[in-house]
Amino acid sequence: MHQAPAGGSPRSGADALVMSRRLRVAAAVLCLAGTLGIPAAADAALRPVATSLTVWPRAVTAGQVPAISLKIVEPGVRTVRARLVVLSQPRQDPVARIDLGAVRTGRRMTAAWPQGVALPAGRYLVRVHAQDAQGHTLVRRAHTSGRLIFTVNPGAAAAAPPVGYVFPVAGPHTTWPAGSDGSFGAGRVGHQHEGQDIAAAAGTPVVAPVGGTVTAVRYQAGGAGWYVVLDGTDGRDYFFAHCTAGSVGVAVGMPVAAGTPLCGVGMTGSATGPHLHFEIWMVGWRVPGGYPIDPLPDLLAWGG
Ligand SMILES: [Zn+2]
Repeated sequence: MHQAPAGGSPRSGADALVMSRRLRVAAAVLCLAGTLGIPAAADAALRPVATSLTVWPRAVTAGQVPAISLKIVEPGVRTVRARLVVLSQPRQDPVARIDLGAVRTGRRMTAAWPQGVALPAGRYLVRVHAQDAQGHTLVRRAHTSGRLIFTVNPGAAAAAPPVGYVFPVAGPHTTWPAGSDGSFGAGRVGHQHEGQDIAAAAGTPVVAPVGGTVTAVRYQAGGAGWYVVLDGTDGRDYFFAHCTAGSVGVAVGMPVAAGTPLCGVGMTGSATGPHLHFEIWMVGWRVPGGYPIDPLPDLLAWGG
């Protein structure tokens, strides 16, 4: 599972183990800060605060949902009961409720949407609710209000014709489920997972899901490993990472048809086991204005 690149070239990084270790370190630093007596407002010492709430991406197409991650803190309190409520705007109709159960304080977590949630196009407000064992509820200050707006745009997903697409792993595979660590938007240190992970045996062919032109074949140590970028005839760019060394069978500038083998599944770069890290980019891969979308709906439509 490689991480989201920053600033023009893909940056990959910690696997889940390393990441959880880093989170423990971060938590330890937080605890230390507490014992050193970093001043906090009086009410914050008695009530939970959502110090961080991230909805990513902030605009999705109908049929998709954004990843929501959050961190709640309350000095001296280990867990709080928490839930998210999604309200349509401006009517404030509740359209989804995500019960987070007992949430560890001081740790970032990503919420798992309930199965089958389909939000129509529109604007939505995510609101965090939390309560500690004493019944104290979330503090809402201007900069840590526990509220955030996102947008669902109409149509693009429905307009993308599924006909003619091929699943990008030609062999037995397992696609990480929505909301899991291998899904789009899953939390990574400092950013979010920009693709979808698909586990398969090393060497299983990675194939072009749609026709197009190969625009990059590169190696990134400690990150994406061997990767291929495809400029699809559907106007979207596709990114395939962690290919087995020596398995890339295409070159930059080469036109390919849907189903053409690109490389073999591997674990080069930062990966804990053989898998394809797969991204779909609108506008263009790592160009100004380009942005990744959740590949899961497409993967499922292609036989995921
Ligand atoms: Zn990944």
